[in-house]
Order: sequence, then C-alpha cells, then structure tokens
Amino acid sequence: MLNTNIQTILATIDQSARKAKRNLNEIKLVAVSKKVNIEQIQKAIDYGLHIFGESYLQEAVPKIRHFSDQIKWHFIGHIQSNKAKQVAELFNVVETVGSYKVAKILDNHARALNKQLEILVQINIGKEQQKSGVPFEEAESLLRLLTKETNLHISGLMAIPPYNIDPEKSRPYYREIKKLATRLAIQRLFRNNDCVELSMGMSGDYSIAIEEGATIIRVGTAIFGERT
Ligand SMILES: *Cc1c(COP(=O)(O)O)cnc(C)c1O
Repeated sequence: MLNTNIQTILATIDQSARKAKRNLNEIKLVAVSKKVNIEQIQKAIDYGLHIFGESYLQEAVPKIRHFSDQIKWHFIGHIQSNKAKQVAELFNVVETVGSYKVAKILDNHARALNKQLEILVQINIGKEQQKSGVPFEEAESLLRLLTKETNLHISGLMAIPPYNIDPEKSRPYYREIKKLATRLAIQRLFRNNDCVELSMGMSGDYSIAIEEGATIIRVGTAIFGERT
C-alpha cells in the first residue's frame, strides 16, 4: 500500500514536471508524517523518501531523535514562542515563519547553536483568520527586515491556499505566490535569488502546484493514508 502510494506520487510528479517543462530534480517531496508512527516512517525511508514534515513539536521530538541524521526534517506547523528554541534546534528547515518576532527568536537560538537555520516565509495567501503567515502585502517589508536583521538562511516562500475540493481553485493562489517570489528575488531578498524555494501543494493539489512552480510539495494523506 505505502509503496504503491509512493510510486503513484513519484509518477505524478514526473508527469506534472514534464507538462510544465520543468526539471524533475528541482522538486522535493516532503512526506508529511504527522500522526504517523516510527514503523511507517521507516518503511517510507526504505522506499526511498528522505525528507519528512511535522506540524507538532511534541510529536516530532521522539521521531527526530529516533532517526538521528538519516533524514531531513521540515517544521510545517504553527510556531509557539516558547517552543521556538527546540524547533530551531531539531529541524533542518522551518517552513512557517510569518512574523519578525518568531523569526528573531529562531535566529537567537540558531546563533547560539552556531547553526545556519534554513527558513521559508509563510504567506497567508487566502487572508484567512485561522491561518498563520504574513499578509501578502507585508511580505516584502518582512523579508527586508529579516535579511537585514537576522542571520537566517531565507530560502523561499510557503503557502497554503484556502481548502477547496476542486484543486483547480488553488492555481490562481500558486500563481500569485510565484509572481511574488519572482518580484522579491529581483530585489535580492532571498539567500539564493537564482533558485528560490516555493513550498506549495498538498495531497489534493500537488500536480497543480508543480505546474505553477512549486519546488517543495508537502504530501501526507496520499502517502500514508487518511489520518485518524
Ligand atoms: C497536514 C499538512 C500537510 C499534508 O496534508 P495532506 O492533505 O495530508 O497531504 C501539508 N502541509 C501542512 C502545512 C500540513 O499541516
């Protein structure tokens, strides 16, 4: 089951990349393993996956300790100030930085650890109250502040569009994110402005995200099945 799911996703990624005339090696699959146990994660590793995403710190800690340095971990959840230290310590990439306050806390801890922490800035693309992220209009000023005032490795943007059963409804949001990233890269606000990461696309709409320029897709359900 797991192997079949993974093969299907890899084939779909390949297909979407071809359709968009994109290079397959610029697209990373983050396996979202929230609510997934260590045995299942081990199987996914055995089937070739090597980047995992977690939303809840407490749940992630034992998993990260178990697998030590074998794989890369992305934090994709809401960052609470009092947990930021451990997030900075344990994760390779923090995808959900949406404010200067949180960024500064991560930065302080990363500096203390002598770690070059990679982050993405989360954009609240759908202007949804319940979702984290910086409003679209404030992205540029936040990026300016972060590049000036922190030592964080800002590699790109992350966004979650409003949920819709029809994946086509995500397309205009992903297009906006791509345009925004291009504009910010011209102003040299990322660490590597020739190769900006765009984390967008989940189980329901990752093909569309790839067509619109995603370099990171975050897929849980389509790999591990429905979370209970
Ligand atoms: C849970 C989660 C995902 C994965 O969602 P699926 O629909 O299960 O693929 C991706 N991104 C974030 C931020 C999540 O919280």
